[in-house]
Amino acid sequence: MAGKSNRIGVDLGGTKLAVGVVDSKGNIVGDSVTYDHVGLHEEEVLDRIERNIDRALSAAGTSRGDVSGVGVLFPGHIRWPDGVTLTTSNLPGFKNFPLREKMEARLGIPCLADNDANAQTLAEYRYGAGVGLDPMVFLTVSTGIGGGIIIDGKLYRGFTGTAGEFGHMIVDVSGGQRCTCGNYGCLMSLASGIVIPKAAERIAKRLAAEGACSDLPDGCHDFDALNGAMLAAGCADENELCKAVVQEYARYIGIGMYNVFQILNPRGIVLGGGLLNLPDFFFDEAMATCYNLAGKMMYDRMIIRRGLLGSRAAVIGAASLFEEGK
Ligand SMILES: [Zn+2]
Repeated sequence: MAGKSNRIGVDLGGTKLAVGVVDSKGNIVGDSVTYDHVGLHEEEVLDRIERNIDRALSAAGTSRGDVSGVGVLFPGHIRWPDGVTLTTSNLPGFKNFPLREKMEARLGIPCLADNDANAQTLAEYRYGAGVGLDPMVFLTVSTGIGGGIIIDGKLYRGFTGTAGEFGHMIVDVSGGQRCTCGNYGCLMSLASGIVIPKAAERIAKRLAAEGACSDLPDGCHDFDALNGAMLAAGCADENELCKAVVQEYARYIGIGMYNVFQILNPRGIVLGGGLLNLPDFFFDEAMATCYNLAGKMMYDRMIIRRGLLGSRAAVIGAASLFEEGK
């Protein structure tokens, strides 16, 4: 199975460390996923990465000698192409850390390092829902909101490498909730996984004032416990509060996609992340909001698709960083 065209994708997350051996067609042929690097010193985290690489290689029936490159993802800002980490939101200690250089010195294999959203964008564009769409935008909604931009077959990174930070687009100037960036009304502060409890509490008050049912879904007794999986289950149970939250999220994501349309006029937008688990009406409403706002300004309908690669996108994208521009 394995040959010299294999590459390795490393998705270093805040809690999860996923490593996969990826073949030339974008298939993961061996992997290793662990959760034991949290709170460790940087060099110890790199030890864990090396360990997972060897486990993934062994699962794929191959060895380091058959690997042409290793792509490492960091869950925060990282400078391209030298791979020095800039921000440290999820992994304290990784401030100004030469991730690419350190990994290359350890492995003796060419390495590249980028952020996770860029890699997922590349994966969907090359092997997933974005095949044939150019320019393409990937918008991922999970705990936070991120994304990436493909122009002429390549990632567009911007001046300092932070292009595609769609989560901090301001979509509600009247205020809304405060974002982790300090501003108010960012897309991420209104329609991401982390703000579900606040959004639900606010919407429940509104429903109650309108005399509508504002009960939490079955099995959930407190707003703080409400998460995306419960929202999806609540919608399936026809829970009014869950449906109202998902509807509001859809409207904000739709506004976000509309803004993307006006700025970049992409051929298509691919949606990914945990929101893929939300019910169909979420996608219908988000698309309707975007198309309605664009109206006659959209001469040829921008394609909006759900991502196809799910949680595999990061590892596949990390491995495909080497193919960029080919
Ligand atoms: Zn923000």
